[in-house]
Amino acid sequence: MKPLYQLTIKEASDLLEEKKISSLDLVESVFKRIDQVDEKVKAYLLLNRDGAIKSAKLSDERISRGKRIGRLDGIPISVKDLLCTKGIETTAASNILKGFIPSYNATVVEKLERAGAIIVGKTNLDAFAHGSSTENSDFQVTKNPWDLNRIPGGSSGGSAAAVAADMCLASIGTDTGGSIRQPASLCSVVGFKPSYGRVSRYGVIAMASSLDVVGPLAKTAEDASIMMDAISGPDDLDPTTIKENENFTNLKPISLKGLKFALPREFFAKGIDEDVKSVIMKAVDDIKGSGGEIVEISLPSVKYALSVYYIIQPAEVSSNLQRYDGVRYGHSAYRDRNDLKLEELYTNSRGQGFGKEAKRRIMLGTYVLSAGYYDAYYKKALKIRTLVKNDFDKAFDKSAGGADFVITPVSPTPAFKVGEKSNDPIQMYLSDIYTVPINPAGVPAISLPAGFVERVTSKLPVGMQVIGSFKDDKRLLEASIALQDLLKIDEKPNL
Ligand code: GLN
Repeated sequence: MKPLYQLTIKEASDLLEEKKISSLDLVESVFKRIDQVDEKVKAYLLLNRDGAIKSAKLSDERISRGKRIGRLDGIPISVKDLLCTKGIETTAASNILKGFIPSYNATVVEKLERAGAIIVGKTNLDAFAHGSSTENSDFQVTKNPWDLNRIPGGSSGGSAAAVAADMCLASIGTDTGGSIRQPASLCSVVGFKPSYGRVSRYGVIAMASSLDVVGPLAKTAEDASIMMDAISGPDDLDPTTIKENENFTNLKPISLKGLKFALPREFFAKGIDEDVKSVIMKAVDDIKGSGGEIVEISLPSVKYALSVYYIIQPAEVSSNLQRYDGVRYGHSAYRDRNDLKLEELYTNSRGQGFGKEAKRRIMLGTYVLSAGYYDAYYKKALKIRTLVKNDFDKAFDKSAGGADFVITPVSPTPAFKVGEKSNDPIQMYLSDIYTVPINPAGVPAISLPAGFVERVTSKLPVGMQVIGSFKDDKRLLEASIALQDLLKIDEKPNL
């Protein structure tokens, strides 16, 4: 049998159920793996060793009494350090929150714990989720397990690297413009961005509230659906959650035969690496070979999506980051200084606590919201956002012969080298050109491992993005299970 840390949730769950392994064995195997490889990968900001061992024992006790809660009971997972964990430091990878210990759990964390999942640690990210490489973390740079000289993607880079390197069975990430899908693609794991509102954002440190979603990174689409089963659903603490409950229990693959997959030509035009394009086109051929119908479409407003995103997102970021003032929680070397005026306390704490990227976004956001520019930028961006959303509505409009799913690349290039884009924000922002348009539209999308490109020193993963219509999360996951069976990419990085 393979080492326990290599198991999927499904496999581990079956073995736990049959009492062939214990949760304690599984959790210890995962920590052993972390001890072996995380020194190189640097996926974790914090490990919850004692807590995890304690929970594993409780889980084993339940299992021995025949009282296993469900398929996540006893399963070791990790959580992006953007979600509040009661009694466990939560930093958003930013100095300004260093030392912050929340007094409550995010709803998602609460639900996972109630399902018996075991949180082994908090994963690294670009501070406040601003970035595409995890280089914007104030604490450490996470490396891509496929090539340690390259970035794992971001902002949920710690989560993607931890899953790819078998340092947890699955993880929780967040996605405002691609932060689940892009790192999943660059690390060859599955990353699912649910419909806006499908998963509660309560207790998740806000980036841009009208775009933020929480979702799983996992080894398989089936595992992602097991995670969704636990974390999704309406929440009184987050009024933006979708009111109906979707049932993600025991999803099975659906036949690809007769399903219509649309390829938007704007996503395959200039700017895409030819090798990446070939991997996606090969996958598309395979889909055609198994009876899927492939059509070409146009999403004409999508070319404005990145610009729209870089107006709306910083506007919301600048508003959300106002609350970090050094007074109530997190970093402040000045809180006890009676000689400072309040304004000085704010400016000193914020000046020191926020990194370069957060400051850039606060300035951009304040600018587009200021009197005189609000109409020219922010209001206009909101109008174009509606056009982007209309493009997707039209693409999926069944009464007009619309598609079941839209297929695109996730990222125009494979993982780039550490440092390659860190001094060029525009290049960095462009690496999200295929994922960003999905968030303003609110629709669900998944990144599935599709293949590899050969580079001189390593082979690098390429992900395929499959997009569904709003609230069609369940069918998208069912189709993804089928697509994964078809594409059969199950290689592991050599660490
Ligand atoms: N990389 C994008 C950004 O920096 C998206 C980040 C995210 O989804 N959190 O804004």
